Amino acid sequence: MVRVEMLAVGKELLIGRTLNTNAQWLGRRLGRKGTLLAEITTVDDDLSEIAAGLKGCLGRRADFVIVVGGLGPTPDDMTLKRISKGMGSALRLNREALSLIREHYAQRNLSSVKMTPARKKMATLPVGAKPVRNEVGTAPGVRLELEGTTVFCLPGVPSEMKDIFLRSVESEIATKLGKLYRKYISLKIEGIYESALAPMIESELRRHPGAYIKSHPRGVKEGKSRIELDVAMVSKSRKDAADSVVQVVREIKSKIESVGAAVVSERGTAPSGRR
Ligand code: ATP
Ligand code: MG
Repeated sequence: MVRVEMLAVGKELLIGRTLNTNAQWLGRRLGRKGTLLAEITTVDDDLSEIAAGLKGCLGRRADFVIVVGGLGPTPDDMTLKRISKGMGSALRLNREALSLIREHYAQRNLSSVKMTPARKKMATLPVGAKPVRNEVGTAPGVRLELEGTTVFCLPGVPSEMKDIFLRSVESEIATKLGKLYRKYISLKIEGIYESALAPMIESELRRHPGAYIKSHPRGVKEGKSRIELDVAMVSKSRKDAADSVVQVVREIKSKIESVGAAVVSERGTAPSGRR
């Protein structure tokens, strides 16, 4: 098992100003790779809150922690300050990070931009940390090792977070995971209540212990109860992943049809492996 956690930093997430779409995106992305985003912690822009959040992730022996937010030039962006304190290592101007920032401005014909303290802050990393290229925005991401956990600090801006994750983080997680395949099918079902579906799901889970089977009630329309049912399986074998899901779907279909309900649509993915 590879344990991946997210530590989202930002008051805006806690006061309801910003929806944590980064968490949803990361969870989905990791799910497709065959692993779970095991835990999402959200903390305030506050040194002791960031420390407590990170301590929790390290205490749970996460293999990877994706820290998102608080990397920018503003005073409330204090992720790296907190991490350097926790590592017991100083914050220093990192030459590689500085040249990434200069490159960023040069590519935008802004070579004359002055390296103000706010800009230098984005290149000031804990000693021992490595900057990670940000092709979209200015502040580089940061990679470091803490107590056996690989920590990536990414900017909060969703387009930057996604870009750095896809370029520099995902492949490292995928390598640690090894080759896995995930098959997924989602069914739209009409004419059965969740309470009647529940024992069918339970019996399928007993027959296929590794499967993920989850119902989502979608209300009642024209007198018919509607449910979406997701079925997924992750396996080292492409065939096993596909066979299990197809079999679960076949069995569920036959059970619900026997009580007069129907599958009205079916959508899914081919077994996806490491991309
Ligand atoms: P910047 O370089 O822009 O300052 P940063 O790493 O400091 O980046 P934040 O200041 O924490 O990031 O957030 C930048 C923007 O991204 C804000 O508008 C914030 O609301 C948004 N944001 C932060 N975290 C998330 C998140 N988890 N999901 C969606 N949006 C987020
Ligand atoms: Mg912030």
